Amino acid sequence: MIRFWRVFVQAVVFEAPGKINIKDIPEPQAGKEDILVKVKAAGLCGTDLHVYKGDFIASYPIVPGHEFSGEIISAGADVEGFKPGDRVCVDPCVYCGKCDFCKSDRENFCRDFRAYGLHFNGGFEELVSVSYRNAYQIGSLSFEEGSMIEPLSCVIHGIKRIGLRAGDEVLIFGCGPIGLMLMQVCKKSGASRVIMADVSRKKLETAERLGAGATLLNNNSFEAGLKKLFPFGADVVIDATGIPQVVQNMSAHVKDAGKLLFFGVCPPDSRISINPYEVYKRELTIYGTFSLLHDFPSAIKLLQSGSIDVRSLASHQFSLSEFMQGFNLMLEHGDFLKILIKP
Ligand SMILES: [Zn+2]
Ligand SMILES: [Zn+2]
Repeated sequence: MIRFWRVFVQAVVFEAPGKINIKDIPEPQAGKEDILVKVKAAGLCGTDLHVYKGDFIASYPIVPGHEFSGEIISAGADVEGFKPGDRVCVDPCVYCGKCDFCKSDRENFCRDFRAYGLHFNGGFEELVSVSYRNAYQIGSLSFEEGSMIEPLSCVIHGIKRIGLRAGDEVLIFGCGPIGLMLMQVCKKSGASRVIMADVSRKKLETAERLGAGATLLNNNSFEAGLKKLFPFGADVVIDATGIPQVVQNMSAHVKDAGKLLFFGVCPPDSRISINPYEVYKRELTIYGTFSLLHDFPSAIKLLQSGSIDVRSLASHQFSLSEFMQGFNLMLEHGDFLKILIKP
């Protein structure tokens, strides 16, 4: 269709690190392999905070938002399997397909790794253009659930990394949306018991509602409470706080021959001290996990089967114009779970 006037859409724009504008930008143009998606729900995430601060790979100016779902408005001539009206979510990761990592099934380390919301405009705008190769049908899932498929995929990737075994006992620090998804995926993957720790009583209550084996408030009696639950430590200890002091203390709570998963994103320049003798003597294994790797189909199936509840994780909703209210909640570390932006 040829239009003789320019159409504008409302968007959140990170002009440069530390500089946010909510303004009208030209409607995105869709190429032959692209679909134009009317964004219905987009999740705010810690990564957006890092992009705002300028301490994460991204190019500016950028429309952030890498966790989103919506309805297809139009599809390019070469798009296969999608049509206007389809409800979709989007895997934000764009890989080159040519480098050594891409050719050895480790695309998350692609040497030319780029993503919607980091290098290409993402979900905090009314309309977004994405390659159909990054889209997935969500069927009858709600758009809110659709927007949480990306973080759930990252969680699944992390759990695949550690090779959780049937019967494993797991301790998770942090009851934010990621911690609560990790808890549910661990249970679905065969963990016999998942214990959740946090400093917020309210978040622990949500963990209980979602099936935590037990919850522990991280206060003075925390160590004693944990000793009672795990006299010899847990098989797996996961950090979902990104707080270096918490990460440093993880090995005190893991069983000999146990596994530690560093999931939370610590500040890039943070340091912790680890006793290498202890890692040797106790045969501890430390895992990192970055982004996701072809985990969207598993995440969608888990949600469609009703095995995982992400609906309870959406604590706040804001329109695009109200974006700063949601963003300030994150900046001030307020009491929230998932904050959704609904353009
Ligand atoms: Zn995210
Ligand atoms: Zn590559």
